[in-house]
Order: sequence, then C-alpha cells, then structure tokens
Amino acid sequence: MNIHEYQAKRLLRDYGAPVSDGRVVLKADEAKSMASELDGPLWVVKAQIHAGGRGKGHFIEPEAGEAGGVRLTKSVAEAATEAEKMLGRTLVTHQSGPAGKQVNRVYIEDGSGIETELYLALLVDRQSSRVAIVCSTEGGMDIEQVAAKTPEKIISFSVDPASGLSAFHGRRVAFALGLKGAQIKQCVKLIDTLYRMFIERDMEMLEINPLIVTDKGDLKCLDAKMGFDSNAMYRQPDILAQRDETEEDPKELAASKFDLNYIALDGEIGCMVNGAGLAMATMDIIKLYGSNPANFLDVGGGATKEKVIEAFKIITSDPQVKGILVNIFGGIMRCDVIADGVVAAVKEVGLTVPLVVRLEGTNVKEGKAIINNSGLDVIAADDLGDAAQKIVKAVKG
Ligand code: GDP
Ligand code: MN
Repeated sequence: MNIHEYQAKRLLRDYGAPVSDGRVVLKADEAKSMASELDGPLWVVKAQIHAGGRGKGHFIEPEAGEAGGVRLTKSVAEAATEAEKMLGRTLVTHQSGPAGKQVNRVYIEDGSGIETELYLALLVDRQSSRVAIVCSTEGGMDIEQVAAKTPEKIISFSVDPASGLSAFHGRRVAFALGLKGAQIKQCVKLIDTLYRMFIERDMEMLEINPLIVTDKGDLKCLDAKMGFDSNAMYRQPDILAQRDETEEDPKELAASKFDLNYIALDGEIGCMVNGAGLAMATMDIIKLYGSNPANFLDVGGGATKEKVIEAFKIITSDPQVKGILVNIFGGIMRCDVIADGVVAAVKEVGLTVPLVVRLEGTNVKEGKAIINNSGLDVIAADDLGDAAQKIVKAVKG
C-alpha cells in the first residue's frame, strides 16, 4: 500500500525528520488561505498522485498550463492560481501510464533553497532478507537512469537485523554523499530516524528523492515516497486510514475486497489459476508461446463459487483481455466448484472472447461434465502446454 507525499511528510515530521511546512488542498477555493499560512518567499505547488516523476510530467488538459506537476511560485496568489490549474486535471508522468492520473489533491509547501540534490532510500532487499540502504549523489533525477548509465554512483548496503542499526551506517551514507561538518551528524540522526520508522511502520520502501542540502547547509527531505507491507496493515490502522482508493487500479481494488490475489498486467490473456506458483508458471508459458498475460490471479485453495464468479467478472472487465485461460490443478480446490463458478459467471456477464479451460485433479470428471453440459463455447485443454498454445492461437487467430 502506498500513501501520498504529504502524508509521508507528516509521518516524517512526527518522527522528527527535517521536512518543510506545507498544507494539503482538496478544493480550489481553499488554496489561497492555505498558501497564506506559509511564510514564503517561495511556495511550491505539488500534485499529489501515487506516481513519481511529477516535476517532468505534463498535463493532458491545456487549461492546466505547460508546466509539470511541481511548480515554484513567488506569491500566495500565484500559488493559488497554480493549485487551481492542477486540481481535477490529469497528470501524465513516466510512472503514471499514458492515461495519466487525476489530481484530486495538491500540496503547497514552503519552498527551499537548494545547494545539492541527493538520493536516499530504504527498502526490503529480498535477496539478503535485510533492510537495504541505497544512496547516491545523483539525486532529483530518475534513479533508474542513474542505475543504467552510471551504476557506480549508487551505493548500497544492508543492515544486519541481529545487531541492528548503529551510527556507523549513518556515517557510511554521509561519506558516500560527500557530506561535511554538521551535515554528517544530521545524516546519522536521519538514518537512525528513517530506519526506526521503516521497521515500526512495516514499510517495504521509503524513498527520499531528492534529499537536499539547503542553501543554509542543512539536510532536508524534499520529496517522500512510502510503500507499506499490505499484509501488516492490520496492525497499522492509522496508515491504513490514509489509503486513497482512487489511486488504485479498480480491478485490483475489487479483487482485494473479495480477498483474491490479483495483479493487473498489460497483456491480452486473462488468467484464472489456483495457487501462486501455478499462476506464475501459467504466465510464463503464455509468454513462451508468444503472448502476454493480462493479470496474475490466484483464486486460492478454498475459493467458493461466488469468489470464482467475482474473479471472472474482474478479468472480463479489462478491455485489454482478448482471451481467457482457466488453469486449475485441483488439490484442495475442487474442479466442480471452479466449473460452477465459470459457468455462472459467463451466464451473468456473457463471453465475448475465447475461453480455454484446463481442469485437473480433485473432481475433474464432475468439473468437465459441468462445462460440457453448459452449452458454453469453451475450448478444452489437457495440460498446461496444450492450454497455453490453444489460448494464444485463439487470440492471435
Ligand atoms: P517528483 O518529480 O515527482 O520526483 O517531485 P519532487 O518533489 O522530487 O520535485 C521535483 C523537483 O522539483 C526536485 O528535484 C527539485 O529540483 C524541484 N523542487 C521541489 N521542491 C522544491 C523547492 O522547495 N525548492 C526548489 N528550488 N526546487 C524544488
Ligand atoms: Mn522526487
């Protein structure tokens, strides 16, 4: 789960990390009074969407103006005008997808004078099973590009959870970032704060890009991105309360309400599979035979007919889906339950694309009989390879 920049900065402030003062604006007519609560002389107006690269982004509507989603202004009036231009408009960034994201909130922040822009992130490194600290002197820009072009400029190391964090880690970051004097102490404190936050708040990712040295020589978090472990949200109620469902893929949102493990992808073959491993293998084999999966979906072992119906509806609601592959190896999951669900769903929502069904395992005979007697136009398959080839062939014509 992700939160907005202004929410992340509020959390940073609560933990004592250096951030600028700012106000979030939801309605255009509030912009002026919000901006006037800040000191100036620089007001930064920032679109709040769950996608990075806002500064270099552009708006679809001409009324929003030529500038991107981060605008530097020199008066309260100008800040309010820019906030009004952005609200309700659609911002496209390299992370938002070509359709962009609607800006429903803007953040007006006290502007900072910048000496240097640095990069700092904490994330769960699954390879080492530790929290990794990543930093670079090349802040403010696309870190993926830095990684591709000048990987030597990215410094990364992990923290041993047994011994925990010590001042040494902070000094290592300070050295890598070329900090001097009082900044080194500030950096040690910041790393300590961020690491504590990261652990206490069950984060997966915490990215400060840029971390800046201000014109007064102090460290400050100028941008903040936070991602949290969705499985830990039961013990982070105040984080969960900050969830903005309008930022999420509507299909993934629907799936989460029915406890389905669904991830939207950009291919053309919708997949309904039981078991995460089989779902991964199914996506792989679709690719092997020359197409791409439209989603990852694990309906789970104990799925009911209702859950299968919902899953099918979510798959067919994706306009990119040109064919559907149902691949079930019934162990705990019974093939007849899946077949019942698929037949009921198709009767409800209709079927406009080819459907390949491969059933194997518990109650396979009953499952196949349900499909065969349903009168539906289903292509039957015997094994995984056969199923993948059939659906790719049906889609590609
Ligand atoms: P992003 O484009 O979504 O990553 O948004 P950021 O918050 O990182 O802002 C993008 C860029 O705008 C930063 O890298 C800075 O160069 C600039 N910027 C943001 N806030 C300020 C500010 O307070 N003062 C100045 N001078 N520049 C800023
Ligand atoms: Mn940024």
